[in-house]
Amino acid sequence: MTTTQLQHAHIDWNEQGQPLSAEFADVYFSKQSGLDESRYVFIQHNQLTERFQQLDNSTPFVVAETGFGTGLNFLTCWQLFLQQAPEQARLHFISVEKYPLHAADLQLALALWPELEPLSAQLLQQYLVIQPGYQHFIFQQGRVCLTLLIGEASEQLSQLDAKVDAWFLDGFAPSKNPDMWSDALFSQLARLAKPQTTLATFTSAGFVRRGLQAAGFNMQRHPGFGHKREMLSGVFSGSHTASWAAPWFARPTQPSNAEKHAVIIGAGISGCASAYSLAIRGWRVTLIERNPHIALEASGNPQGVLYLKLSAHHTNLSQLILAGFGYSRRLLSQWPDNPYFAGCGVLQLAYNVKELQRQQQLSAAFNPELLQPLTAQQASELAGVTLTMGGLFYPESGWLQPAELCRLLIKHENIKLLTEKQVTCLNYQHQQWHIQSENGCITQAPVVIIANANAAKDFSQTASLSIKPIHGQVTSVPATQASRALKTVLSAEGYIAPQHENQHCLGASFDFQRTDTRLNSRDQQRNLHRLKDLSPQLYHQLNAAQLNPEHLSGHAALRCTSPDYMPIIGPVADMQQLELRYNKLRKNARATPSASCPYYPGLYVNTAHGSRGMVTAPLAGEMLAAWINNDAQIVPLHLAEACHPNRFAIRNLMRNKPLVQH
Ligand code: SAM
Repeated sequence: MTTTQLQHAHIDWNEQGQPLSAEFADVYFSKQSGLDESRYVFIQHNQLTERFQQLDNSTPFVVAETGFGTGLNFLTCWQLFLQQAPEQARLHFISVEKYPLHAADLQLALALWPELEPLSAQLLQQYLVIQPGYQHFIFQQGRVCLTLLIGEASEQLSQLDAKVDAWFLDGFAPSKNPDMWSDALFSQLARLAKPQTTLATFTSAGFVRRGLQAAGFNMQRHPGFGHKREMLSGVFSGSHTASWAAPWFARPTQPSNAEKHAVIIGAGISGCASAYSLAIRGWRVTLIERNPHIALEASGNPQGVLYLKLSAHHTNLSQLILAGFGYSRRLLSQWPDNPYFAGCGVLQLAYNVKELQRQQQLSAAFNPELLQPLTAQQASELAGVTLTMGGLFYPESGWLQPAELCRLLIKHENIKLLTEKQVTCLNYQHQQWHIQSENGCITQAPVVIIANANAAKDFSQTASLSIKPIHGQVTSVPATQASRALKTVLSAEGYIAPQHENQHCLGASFDFQRTDTRLNSRDQQRNLHRLKDLSPQLYHQLNAAQLNPEHLSGHAALRCTSPDYMPIIGPVADMQQLELRYNKLRKNARATPSASCPYYPGLYVNTAHGSRGMVTAPLAGEMLAAWINNDAQIVPLHLAEACHPNRFAIRNLMRNKPLVQH
């Protein structure tokens, strides 16, 4: 997938204060009444009132739209859902948009609809990190989700893994914007449809009707809204060809009528985020932790930085970081006054020539809402301390205390936390996983998520996962009067965060050799040393030369990482069976065996987030919930595959190497 720099919409405002697209010389919605048109065309002709009334608590109702624009259709749909759907039903709205509005334009456009204000305020609060790719939002404790696919419609939809109940086709007029009404797009609509999927659109253009018909929709004309003569609706009656994902990456089938109870092993950020994503979808969750408290290991740093290591080449890791960062930021926006989060930005300093070149490439690849190049003087003013070099400023980023986020995520009546319980093995009997400790069975459930970082290797089902520990240590340094001037996170080879509770957190060491977690004064010294490289002035202000590393506090833990540094998120397969079923790949890497993937029923893993757990683990919780709940996947297919637990084994089979490499 190609990802280019984000282009925002250029909006002209007419005398009535309504938005017009400068790119397409067309209106976003009817000048007469956008709200009434939205209700007539999209709601009425997809029969959403009746369909919402009939929903239950099974899979969410999925509406997908071409052209998010001002979000008016989304808000109209959300409002109707609240009015008509039973309490336990859920709505997932997916919308693709190539030219997202700037937040200020969105605010002006939505101010036209006072009756939608309670909902538009929530959208505006979370309208952050609107960047290329899939950006995911949760509203009203998970009753309503929005996934925005930012980019060209056909390209973005080709990566969607969903079954859509109702389509809203709302690109600009076909005569002005033929890209939104192409056969390539229609075939995506059909791929994403299921029997009886409906669609509605304001246009009645003949080629649109014929194209949709050819894709498998039975089309009907209706009187148009306002001065428009006709509009179209359709019902899918086509058939689907073979699955489009390789079988080893296919969705696991969910046991029907299984009790909605999941056990999650490990209460760090991966486990707590997974628990949250299931709990808000009505699942009962038992979260099991071996320590006396949650977030004591790699999620135990006093200040964790939302650090974005992006690539100008838009690698999978870079795309995942962007999607994860957006979701984490929106999640945090739920708690705007929490003192354990600070949206103070992060300043990545250009500490050598290579880093400067990397930053120049990033500035060309991403837009200034995400990152801005600063000179040393600008950087010093922004940071509140003297800096000898410039860098890249990420204004939407900041720091947070991971343990606080974990606490907030599991504060839910559906989540039960069991501490000081060491799980020794997992046995599957009578369609339930029996969670064993040395003292017997702790509990049982049809679904289990293994989220205990490196200790995932302790279970036979995940013993061969390609994961390894990286030792890391952070140092706490007492703030001084002068150091309180620091206003943003500074990072280079190390980092320092603005003071919190009279301490600054400095980090972090990386060591692949060590596996103990005692505080080590050499690492404390190294962190202090890196502070000197970040800002000699700050080093001086903190009297760092006089500090005795032996007396400083800090936190050491083992992070967990994978060989390609992507996290491992998804369903777990039986490796012996997998080798038998896909053995053909050893002889021919392009073979297309069709046997289904031998997944363990209901078993998932969420690990290897490295030092980026704050950025990628919350999103991973949503990815798992999408699989477990039969919901639309919230990341593009290629990213889900790049995180899939089977990726290493399949790659090894294709290269005719041992299935598991240590
Ligand atoms: N549904 C919107 C609302 O409720 O405000 C109005 C949509 S407006 C009529 C059409 C939208 O399609 C615009 O926001 C435009 O930027 C977007 N668009 C146009 N061409 C596109 C393309 N090729 N891919 C994705 N989005 C596109």
